Amino acid sequence: MENTIVNKPLLSIVIPCYNEEEVLSETISQLDKFCNQLADLTVEMIFVDDGSKDKTRKILKDYAIQNDKVRIIGFSRNFGHQIAVTAGIDASNGDAVVLIDADLQDPPEVIHEMVEKWRDGYDVVYGTRTERPGESAFKLSTARAFYRLLNRVSDVPIPLDTGDFRLMSRVVVDALRAMPEQARFVRGMVSWIGFKQISIPYKRAERFAGESKYPLRKMLRFAIDGILSFSTKPLQFSVGIGLISAFVAMIGIIYAIALRLLTNFWVEGWTALMIAILFIGGVQLICVGVLGEYIGRIYNEIKGRPLYVVQEYIGFEGNNSPFFS
Ligand code: UDP
Ligand code: MG
Repeated sequence: MENTIVNKPLLSIVIPCYNEEEVLSETISQLDKFCNQLADLTVEMIFVDDGSKDKTRKILKDYAIQNDKVRIIGFSRNFGHQIAVTAGIDASNGDAVVLIDADLQDPPEVIHEMVEKWRDGYDVVYGTRTERPGESAFKLSTARAFYRLLNRVSDVPIPLDTGDFRLMSRVVVDALRAMPEQARFVRGMVSWIGFKQISIPYKRAERFAGESKYPLRKMLRFAIDGILSFSTKPLQFSVGIGLISAFVAMIGIIYAIALRLLTNFWVEGWTALMIAILFIGGVQLICVGVLGEYIGRIYNEIKGRPLYVVQEYIGFEGNNSPFFS
């Protein structure tokens, strides 16, 4: 392989793709252009086709025929963005690995700056979004709130407004590969790993074409994953509301007894009773639900399934792929 002949550092670029036929050709040509500018690095591009139902796989295969720097990991079905990124990282050989979206929202030119910082000795260089044009007000405000909430509850500081667009050095990648958890929230896991990390502000572009592959349902799941994987505060919170409602109930009991013993009145009617029952019932269900979320995660982890199933590896040579070694 080229990188074994010339002794340049290898940069692996990991690109998760799910139904991206509309943008992929443009992404490929921009990445191609970008790679040709990198004179002092060897590049491999690892496209992970996350079970696309459109022509994504075919476009990738055609590209792989023309370009020996292209590798494809084709999943057997849609496993989700974070898992796709993980598969790319697992199969990467680079001295540094860059994660970038397939929709050109993350400008490839920023990778130059990332590489520079890496050469300065940083192990993680992450892109922080200063602007996000073209996103709905709803997405912007919920994303903003989410990153702030996550940072408050998380045990490790997770940088604000930072996605997966980042460069990681080999030590970080190896550490990441040693983390077998099923519920993957890659940006948080990288924060947890540590080493020298630095942010690069960049303007996030609009999606070049096509629709977001993150509908509300996936976004919510992703947010819950982020919070539950990095914090047990929701459990403490449910203990908290349990204590508060018990306290309110205590006051009610004392009030009712005092009224009965010290006056000629007593609490009448069923309205207060119903409200109290519904309130306590609601609180209990919420707390059991929170508990259930954690237990569900334990269940998922304990099954110990592989994170993904690969239908085909294309463009990997020799021991480049974990399955071919
Ligand atoms: N993606 C994926 N699997 C999924 C959903 C998304 O691999 O199940 C990829 C998608 O192709 C893109 C990246 O993850 O390269 C980010 O997705 P998208 O741009 O739709 O998210 P948004 O930028 O709207 O948050
Ligand atoms: Mg996008």
